[in-house]
This record gives sequence, C-alpha cells and structure tokens, in this order.
Amino acid sequence: MAELTFVGAAGTVTGSKHLLTVEGHHFFVDCGLFQGVVDVRSLNELPLPVPAARMEAVVITHGHLDHIGFLPKLVHDGFRGPIFCTPPTRELMQIVLDDSAHLQQTLQERGFHHERPHSPPAYYNEDDVAATMRLVKTVPLEQQFDLAGVAKVTYRNAGHIIGSAFAQFEYEGRRATFSGDLGRYGRPLLYDPEPIGAADVLVSESTYGDRIHPPDPSDELLQALVEGIARGGPIVIPAFAVERSQDVLLALAQLQQRDSRVATLPIYLDSPMAAKVDALFEEFPDAHKPIPRDAANAPFGVQNFHLCVTTDQSKALNAITSPCVIISASGMASGGRILHHLHNRLADRSATIIFAGYQSAGTLGYLIIHGAHTLRIYGDALPVLANIVHLSGFSAHADQNDLKRWFGTCTSKPQLYAVHGEVESATAVATLATEAFGWQAQVARRGVTVTI
Ligand SMILES: [Zn+2]
Repeated sequence: MAELTFVGAAGTVTGSKHLLTVEGHHFFVDCGLFQGVVDVRSLNELPLPVPAARMEAVVITHGHLDHIGFLPKLVHDGFRGPIFCTPPTRELMQIVLDDSAHLQQTLQERGFHHERPHSPPAYYNEDDVAATMRLVKTVPLEQQFDLAGVAKVTYRNAGHIIGSAFAQFEYEGRRATFSGDLGRYGRPLLYDPEPIGAADVLVSESTYGDRIHPPDPSDELLQALVEGIARGGPIVIPAFAVERSQDVLLALAQLQQRDSRVATLPIYLDSPMAAKVDALFEEFPDAHKPIPRDAANAPFGVQNFHLCVTTDQSKALNAITSPCVIISASGMASGGRILHHLHNRLADRSATIIFAGYQSAGTLGYLIIHGAHTLRIYGDALPVLANIVHLSGFSAHADQNDLKRWFGTCTSKPQLYAVHGEVESATAVATLATEAFGWQAQVARRGVTVTI
C-alpha cells in the first residue's frame, strides 16, 4: 500500500514537500523552504512526520528554493539517502543553496533588524550545503531510476525553469505523477511540457489555476520602457536570478531589435547569481531552445550589456541619473541588491520600477505594487514617487489554459490533488479537473494523508 502525506505547498505556494510512503519506505518529492509572511515561514519549524534519518531518498523536480531549500536542513538533521535530480538542476541547486546559506548567515549576523521584526533562524550553513551536494545523484530526463526497490521514477520535461521536470512514480502496478511546477506552452527559452500519459494519481501545482496570463509580455514591457525613458531616470527591474532574469534579458534583446529608443539603453545586470544562472544556459544547450547571441557574446544577445559583479560596481549604479535598465534580485524585493536600488530610486520621480512577476503577500514587492505611499528600507521612510509598473506576463508558471492543455495529455482519469496554490487557485484547478475532464479531484490540505 502506498500513502501520500501533504507536508508543504498545501494551501500555500511555498515549502513543497510531499511524503510518499511505499511498503513502509519513506521518500520526499521535493524538499522546499516555506517563504513569505511570518505565519508561513514559521512552518519551517514544525517537526516532519517522519524523522530525517528515516527518510530513504528525495526526488527533486527543479531548483527553485521553495522546492529544494529545506534539503540542507534535512541533511543537517540526519538524512543520508540519495537526492535525485536532473543534471541542470544539480548545478542550479548548488547556486541556489549556496546563496540561501549565505543569506541566512548574513541575516543572522546583522540580526536582521531592517524591516522584519521576526527574523528567521539560520537553518543551515555552507557545510550543510556541501554535505547535501555530496548526496546528489543526477538522472537525465526520460531515464527510469529505482527507489529502494519499491518504486521506479522517470523525469519528464516540465518546461518551468532550466532542468525542471515532472516525476512519474511507478509502484505496486500503479502510477502517480507529481507535476512539480509546470511551465507554459510556447515560451521563448524553454520547450513545452511533455505529455502526462497514463496516471492513477496526479499531484498538480495550481499557482495560477484561477488566472490567464497575457499572451505576450514584450509589448507591455516595451510600453513601460518607453514611458520610463520619457520620465528621464533609470528603470529598475527586480527579477529572480533564476529564469526570470534570463526571460527579461531575452525580451530586452528582442526589443532592442524592434525599437531604436530601447536599442540605445544601457542594460545593467546587477546580480552575480543571475550571471551564474545565465552560464547554465551555455552549459546545458540541450535543456533549452537555441538562443541568438551577438558577436560580443553578451547573454541572450543583449546590446549595451554590463554585468555588475563586485559591490563597488553595484554601488556605482547609484550615480546614474539618465535612462538605463538595472536588473537585480530578488524578484519580490525580499532581499539582495535590489533593496539598495529601491532605497535609492523609490523616492525619485524620474525613476521607474518594473515588477516582472508574482509578488507574494508580506514582501516589499507586494506592498509596492499594491500602492503603498511610504515604505521603510534600511530604516528610512521613503515616499513612493517612482512610477510603478507590474507585468504579469513573464510568469514561469502554467496558467489555467496551460494546465487544461496539460491535463488534456493524460490518457486516463486520475485522482487529482491540487497543491502549490492559494485556496482560490487550488480550488479552481480541482474544479477544472472535475468539470472539464470528469476526474475525482480535491485540494490538498497540509498534514493530511491519503492512500494512493
Ligand atoms: Zn518553481
């Protein structure tokens, strides 16, 4: 008998962690960190349903922190089994976990007195990350691998970020498919998600299950850039280092070809982590669509491109008063170098801030796009005078139409569990599965165990 326990990303979009128990053997599908508001972050403190040392393996779908960020804590607490992922995900995992450990330690050292009264504890350090990476075993897409002799798993392309996969488990003559995070169809950088095929159980993400994305974000971006140039000051784009920065760079490269005003804009990428992720696209050419590149070999063929690696290079951007584009992380302005740029530009009427993705409740980005008049950064109260633009079309997550299209590739009628979404969007996905496909479907609830 197999059981599934929803440990994370059930009623939330972070902390992805599904406990799969087959014939008494325990496995995690993903092992992410809860992020966002205090109530959600505090879920990281709860004991796991099975002690770390008794877990036998972890199957990772992709390298986002909310799917891998708890791994070093699991290892710190005694987990010694294999951690499976695709080869690009391994490289991404190293970048993301190094950054996570560094960020946690920095926050600890500073006491994180900035704006958050409840600073999260440091869950792990660089040594835990190194120990975690030693347990990683890579498996390419479409190649089946074994879990403790009781289950077999196959990764298939999910089209969400580089290296992302959904995972098909076979056990006791049944098949359970975990979507991980599902990407979108027809994206510039990544190939479409693979078909589901047959499944008895489908655990599906539902982040945007109640929404439809705009078809092409580049027109919106062009309009925001042109208006930003007219305002006369810099244009700051908070963007996640993983995938979003690459999507934005590629869109900028294409807009440079289309519009002479954009063509002359200096483009600054102030995110060493994003630059490392850019390099993965060169390292794994088969994991994405071909990318046009110019003679100078700037990432994604962007003209007038400048990479800021050192702190001094980053600080030098503060002196720029004319139109330019500054891309920096994190995407929700919850930390990282972007805070310095927002501190410097929010009160500047000539500046433009373009948010290029989902802003979860409790983040600085959320407050800004919801019209906050004054914000505190580094202890300073700043009036929001810059022009604020929010583009939703750059999402790396499937919307309702993408999910419907993907569900349509399922050749059976599975029991569906909607995870990785707020209640409204998860409910919309369960309703979609029932009404459009006639499947049994329910919204996953944290702590609940079901027989699969
Ligand atoms: Zn993701």
